[in-house]
Amino acid sequence: MKTLKEKIEATNFKKLSKWFILLSVCVMLISGGVATYLLMPQLGEFGLMVDKIGYEPFLVDSDIFEYAIGRGAISMPSFGAQMAVLMTFLFALLIFVGYWLLVATWLYQSACRAEMSGALWLVLGLVGNLLAVVGFFVVRSLTRDMCRECGHWQSYKHQYCTHCGTIMQEKCPHCGGLIHAHDGYCSSCGNATGLSSL
Ligand SMILES: [Zn+2]
Ligand SMILES: [Zn+2]
Repeated sequence: MKTLKEKIEATNFKKLSKWFILLSVCVMLISGGVATYLLMPQLGEFGLMVDKIGYEPFLVDSDIFEYAIGRGAISMPSFGAQMAVLMTFLFALLIFVGYWLLVATWLYQSACRAEMSGALWLVLGLVGNLLAVVGFFVVRSLTRDMCRECGHWQSYKHQYCTHCGTIMQEKCPHCGGLIHAHDGYCSSCGNATGLSSL
């Protein structure tokens, strides 16, 4: 039995978000479509009212719907129509919660893969969502080195990429100090390293 943590770490988020978007669109189209279909009589009556008094009263005062229903100008929606509208709202809420969790768990996985705190970024993702994603990109690019070969983010301390074995740091030919693979000059002695800088 896999733990939730292992499941998140092994998730293919690219594939999962594709399915999530597809499923969300289908669910919203179907439930929204059913609700609209069941509300046809009311939409027709609403159209007649608009013909008579225009849109403005509806924009100014939302209570006018209740007033119109009370006066019989718009008939009461059927129980099925009310349920369909309720379900559409519930689905929309579920999709929103799903999206929110998807972003937070993706942050967790990305943080773990870059050897950053997964728990911290999960919490930040749950609170700040897209704001946390932007913060994550900034912090990661400032504190981590991306492997040029495979694109995995590595700690600055790594001499080799833990994912593909590409060298991340080399030794300065002048003083032997550690230099990053794209440092044009040594940070210890200031001599040219002979590596091409980015
Ligand atoms: Zn690599
Ligand atoms: Zn040096």
